[in-house]
Amino acid sequence: MTKTESTAWHQDIAHVVHPYSNLDAHSTLGPTVIARGDGCYVYDEHGKRYIEGMSGLWCASLGFSEKRLVDAATRQLNTLPYYHLFSHRSHPPGIALAQALTAVAPEGLNHVLFSSSGSEANDAAVKLIWYYNNLLGRPQKKKIISRLHGYHGVTVASGSLTGLAHVHRDFDLPLPRVLHTDCPSHYHFGLPGESEPAFTQRITDNLEQLILEEGPETVAAFIAEPVSGAGGVIVPPAGYFERVQAILKKYDILFIVDEVITGFGRTGRMFGCETYGLQPDMMTVAKGLSGAYQPISGLLLTDAIHDTLRAGSRKHGAFAHGLTYAAHPVAAAVALETLHIYRDRDIVGHVREVAPYFLEKLDALAEHPLVGQVRGVGLIAAVEITADKAARKPFEPTAGMGAWIQNRTMEYGVIVRTIAHCVALCPPLISERQHIDELFGGLSRALDDALVHVR
Ligand code: PLP
Repeated sequence: MTKTESTAWHQDIAHVVHPYSNLDAHSTLGPTVIARGDGCYVYDEHGKRYIEGMSGLWCASLGFSEKRLVDAATRQLNTLPYYHLFSHRSHPPGIALAQALTAVAPEGLNHVLFSSSGSEANDAAVKLIWYYNNLLGRPQKKKIISRLHGYHGVTVASGSLTGLAHVHRDFDLPLPRVLHTDCPSHYHFGLPGESEPAFTQRITDNLEQLILEEGPETVAAFIAEPVSGAGGVIVPPAGYFERVQAILKKYDILFIVDEVITGFGRTGRMFGCETYGLQPDMMTVAKGLSGAYQPISGLLLTDAIHDTLRAGSRKHGAFAHGLTYAAHPVAAAVALETLHIYRDRDIVGHVREVAPYFLEKLDALAEHPLVGQVRGVGLIAAVEITADKAARKPFEPTAGMGAWIQNRTMEYGVIVRTIAHCVALCPPLISERQHIDELFGGLSRALDDALVHVR
């Protein structure tokens, strides 16, 4: 048996179906088995150490060995390992978390419906919006506008919201009633010679046009991530959200903000809503809510929406929606402790302190011949890989450049993620300068090697 081909390696190939992996190639490539974590690092089964430049999947914001979260989980497991919120039952960690979360959330979001994943939270948003408009006596107002290259999950409804072709292809998605509008990336979609303000005006005009063509009376909501993550870390252009929000107000369209990645400090404020001046009617959170130590998510609602749901119960009786593990007490206890850690250690302040250094290191990569653009805010960024800098042309998918760079970076002990022609970076929020140095050190070496590889 070789070093890489351990028993676990063989058993994985035999039995595990891997999300977002080439299932055919996996049978020969096999997995990288990550066995343990420590601070900003993880270790594979052979003991090789990696700096986790993606916080796992944009989520392990407090790193991989936060004792307070382990203790919170243990205490809760010893007290009440499971209970639920159905039929007017409740439990202390669920109540405390709802209180703490709504206290830090943008103003007006005073109610929370818990579930276990970002997909479920966005799914619930779709369902509740349909329910809401039925209760308001406008059953035709049901369409939801999402954005191309936005990412909102993979369930039937949230996968429909996701604006990525490979998430839809052969899965019979998107659902009818889900529409997609422009992605706000000037680098990718600006016309030749078009300035960024002109681009912003054009794509927001397109949004208004779409609403008018569909009929505003049929459009219920618009969903957006403040900074799109999995679609390629798209940082919105100045003035974009201001104009979008004005259009939504004009046509009485609800604004759902997906803070699954951007929530809890990622952009240098508690929420992306604060960074970009967003006023959501609904907001979804997951990932950083528990530092990813437990699966938990939330859909936050305004009083107005919650009042309508209450009216629904006057009509129908019980609110007929709920998941067995919604607000799971262990997950809720861990999430509550996570919020306390963010507060006690001023994690958002820490992000604001290290972000300029992170972004300076990022900017230094902009001159690299394989880099078309760098973009970032707070501790989230992308390095756009290009085959032709002047023409902003990506490599052909068949060149396998993304995988090549990702693998070479791993050889240097750094985990990044290549998506949509870019290298995404989203290190733990506890990262210090030394971790940022290691992250960019490994990535720069891999990019230099890639240059030799393609020439
Ligand atoms: N929304 C955003 C912005 C995400 O990035 C993700 C996952 O990456 C989701 C929703 C879906 O979350 P989950 O994978 O927990 O279902």
